[in-house]
Amino acid sequence: MRISVIGCGYLGAVHAASMASLGHDVVGIDVDADKVARLAASTAPFYEPGLPELLAEVSGTGRLTFTTDMAQAAGAQVHFLCVGTPQKHGEFRADLSYVESAFEALRPHLAPGDVVAGKSTVPVGTAEDLAARLVGSGAVLVWNPEFLREGFAVQDTLHPDRLVYGLPTDDEGVPTPDGEAARALLDEVYATPLGEGTPLVVTDYATSQLVKVAANSFLATKISFINAMAELCEATGADVTRLADAIGYDARIGRRFLNAGLGFGGGCLPKDIRAFMARAGELGVDQALSFLREVDAINMRRRVRMVDLAREVSAGSIVGKRVAVLGAAFKPNSDDIRDSPALSVAAQMQLQGAHVTVTDPQAVENARVKWPDLKYAASALEAAQDADVVVLATEWDEYRNLGPDELGEVVAHRAIVDGRNVLDPKAWRGAGWTYRALGRP
Ligand code: NAD
Repeated sequence: MRISVIGCGYLGAVHAASMASLGHDVVGIDVDADKVARLAASTAPFYEPGLPELLAEVSGTGRLTFTTDMAQAAGAQVHFLCVGTPQKHGEFRADLSYVESAFEALRPHLAPGDVVAGKSTVPVGTAEDLAARLVGSGAVLVWNPEFLREGFAVQDTLHPDRLVYGLPTDDEGVPTPDGEAARALLDEVYATPLGEGTPLVVTDYATSQLVKVAANSFLATKISFINAMAELCEATGADVTRLADAIGYDARIGRRFLNAGLGFGGGCLPKDIRAFMARAGELGVDQALSFLREVDAINMRRRVRMVDLAREVSAGSIVGKRVAVLGAAFKPNSDDIRDSPALSVAAQMQLQGAHVTVTDPQAVENARVKWPDLKYAASALEAAQDADVVVLATEWDEYRNLGPDELGEVVAHRAIVDGRNVLDPKAWRGAGWTYRALGRP
């Protein structure tokens, strides 16, 4: 099938390459000429494991092209909208201007029977608004939210946990004939994962848009729950990692996503829960989501606590101290620094008078653009040279596997704050380090 993918960022580029690898003819469209040029040369414009291999695999087939010209969308039967929906500056609401401009640019190129499939995360009600603008065009809007995780994006796109279609429905909630036709096209697009038994939820517009923000709210709540327990552990001398193990054995709770530490960040969870709260307010049901305010507050408090711990291990002051921050990306296996807890902590310490050097296996270039005043190093050992404190902020494998003796040889003082609870306190203390962590004695 001929497909267009509009917006080729972390979501769209992976979606476009994945759809081509499933055998479809795909045109990826983006306003960023530099990104398009790199993708057209089969080069991944950001770090995502498996994406370079996928681009290489499909490059010889002629099934994947990239352009800045929206007119190239003409002739595709399904158009995936994958543009960004960041937080509005100074507000909790989502900025829908990219969705607006992409949709309006696409509209003149649609033909009767075409499906516009929204994948961006949007406030509930957006799909209804866009669908109303397609009336009379013969094109149909569906909402097909995306759940991929950066770092596992290729795997998650090719083998998703589930697919969700939000279709146009009649007053009884039954898909309209147009909706059924759109569903048949999406079934064709996703024939491979569906054939592998991927669960499919077919529903209405409102539910499909809510599914995505509900899922992210649940995940954020799970992280903030365990981080709230970490605060209790800090007040009592308990160990949050043992607590998480113990409650995680209960299958109703589960151990995944119960890792206490520096909390969540990135281009999704923080802005999605805030946009959800803002939307609930507009709908007159803000009380329903008042707990998300607390989820957000607990998350942000961890960043402050991390700076406090760095101060504690530096004899009460970080002024003039050299601090090495291991990690800049918001999570390992990504170069994404949007709302990164690691960089937020690094910047706070710098503001408070520390000399901060940041390192990351993949995200230094992005970090340098956003935070040019911080110092950067190419490796953990280089960053930690003569450091008074080492702060582990993003749990890349290479930081998990650091040896206390190896690092101990380059630092000025053996003091470390483990912001992700991934180091063995015994081993580090045994090597003469002052070891502190969030939620652990
Ligand atoms: P991104 O910023 O990496 O990518 C967005 C892309 O859209 C950019 O390349 C930008 O140049 C392009 N764009 C902007 N306006 C355009 C226009 N008018 N026409 C064509 N292209 C345009 O963002 P992302 O992380 O890929 O997220 C995209 C959407 O997917 C967001 O709504 C996000 O919440 C959602 N989402 C993201 C993830 C994730 O892990 N990144 C997962 C699930 C859902």
